[in-house]
Amino acid sequence: MKQIGKFIMVFISFSAGLMLGVNIKTFYEASTFKPYSWSNPPKIANCYGPEFSKLQMARAMDYWAIRGYTLGDYIHKPSDDVCEREWTSGYVVLRKSKGLPSSTLASTRRYTVVTTMQGAVIRYQPGSYNLDLLNEHELGHALGFTHLEVDNHIMHPNYGKMGRSFWIP
Ligand SMILES: [Zn+2]
Repeated sequence: MKQIGKFIMVFISFSAGLMLGVNIKTFYEASTFKPYSWSNPPKIANCYGPEFSKLQMARAMDYWAIRGYTLGDYIHKPSDDVCEREWTSGYVVLRKSKGLPSSTLASTRRYTVVTTMQGAVIRYQPGSYNLDLLNEHELGHALGFTHLEVDNHIMHPNYGKMGRSFWIP
């Protein structure tokens, strides 16, 4: 069934053009709390720099692991080709932002094929990696979760209203 579903999505996108494909994708993301998932746990590659906090990331990885979402290894000093490429299959790449709006603490971009995560990039405002729960929130996006506007939920879009809680609506 999964294969048939993929085929239909691809067929619709190709036959009706890019706009319809984008609209379907937007609707799917807006109506599903976790529209994407990985086929294997992704590795996390620190391309932010040597000052990035291993401890903050270890906490964030534990946060998700105890809730059943396993991530691969954290690599503090990845190879140059992982950091030089825009994104790399099987990796969540961490970067220092250039040009994020100042109101945005961090931002995660997902690279997907239909509903499967291929890669992700988290961009941080300089120093924001040290903020409590910020890595947990961005890793949530990298795992495939969208936002949920419920006070104290880890996926609340507003940092001031975000908290440690997690549940699937
Ligand atoms: Zn967010």
